[in-house]
Amino acid sequence: MIILVINSGSSSLKYQVRDTETGERLAEGTVERIGDSTHGGPIDHQEALDRVTDDVEQALQGKAIDAVGHRVVHGGERFSEPVLVDNEITRSIERLSPLAPLHNPANVQGIRAITTRWPDMPQVAVFDTAFHRTLPEQAWRYAVPDELYTRFGIRRYGFHGTSIGYVTHHAASLLGLAPSEFTGIIAHLGNGASITAVQAGASIDTSMGFTPLEGLVMGTRSGDIDPSILLFLSREGYSAEDLDQLLNRESGLLGLTGQNDMRSVVESAAGGDARAELALDLASYRLAKYIGGYHVAVGGAQALVFTAGIGENSWQFRERVVGRLGALNLHLDDAENRKKSSAPRQISTEDSAFPVLVVPTDEEAAIAEATAVVVGR
Ligand code: ADP
Repeated sequence: MIILVINSGSSSLKYQVRDTETGERLAEGTVERIGDSTHGGPIDHQEALDRVTDDVEQALQGKAIDAVGHRVVHGGERFSEPVLVDNEITRSIERLSPLAPLHNPANVQGIRAITTRWPDMPQVAVFDTAFHRTLPEQAWRYAVPDELYTRFGIRRYGFHGTSIGYVTHHAASLLGLAPSEFTGIIAHLGNGASITAVQAGASIDTSMGFTPLEGLVMGTRSGDIDPSILLFLSREGYSAEDLDQLLNRESGLLGLTGQNDMRSVVESAAGGDARAELALDLASYRLAKYIGGYHVAVGGAQALVFTAGIGENSWQFRERVVGRLGALNLHLDDAENRKKSSAPRQISTEDSAFPVLVVPTDEEAAIAEATAVVVGR
């Protein structure tokens, strides 16, 4: 099938056209500055989509799109798998907006723009939270009064699920296992970063929580901090918006070094920059602690898997992380770790307690495949 994959954000719309039989990427692009028509941006998602479809129709040269798959950030407690979109589903995604105020409304706008343009086009919503619907309550509950959960839905949801599901599948296949036989730890390290404990193919714990802010040190997000810091700052006059900006956009690698891109941080550290060195120490130390914890959570991992921009490409960062895992008896093969490759691969030595793998993620492929499955039912 030919699937148009849409990742609709508040001010941008990313798309890819994938052939699910061959895996081929037939077209891709990004429309930016939605709502900023003074700078040449489209006035809204509808106009953004018009630009996309013009490009796509040219690239497809007469071939037709069979279905559209949408990346939807928040599926709340309702959605544990991809679903065919209808009006009721769209409204349900919209009702989840308080949990993802920047993302879900944009996802809904993307869905409605497609409906307007092609009323009969099958559309599938693929949720970033869905893979984590298997979390046991001990992992998803916060130790706060019940009312926060029942009234506001405050609990751990977890994100990056589409990627983790895809990587679980491919890591299992590299080890010669069915996905349901895979027990391991998957570190998705991109601009946003999270780590997931997978037991028998299912997510049993994950570091992102109620929002994508919790957990690891990220490009611009702090990850775990003492919540009292927020109370302290709010008493000092910081508003909710200030704190949101501070912890989501000005912290993490950026806050520690002035740079949010891992490549720059690694280069600066190699050049002797003490702040960059500290940031790498902090990020790798925190990640190593999570790996130790999740090894216990899954009852002994069969593999540690690195994926996404940093996980796939930064041998330096992988070296720092695995270098801290001596207590687990994990050892990298230096040559394999440094090798550039886009193939799923093992980077540990044979005497490592369990294999360390690099498995490239491909969220668009995962969304296209899921869409084809739902539409084909
Ligand atoms: P997103 O979360 O935006 O999808 P990506 O998965 O693309 O992010 O990851 C972006 C991160 O990957 C950036 O910090 C970038 O520096 C890092 N990265 C990409 N390529 C390399 C590389 N060759 N070496 C080190 N880091 C890399």
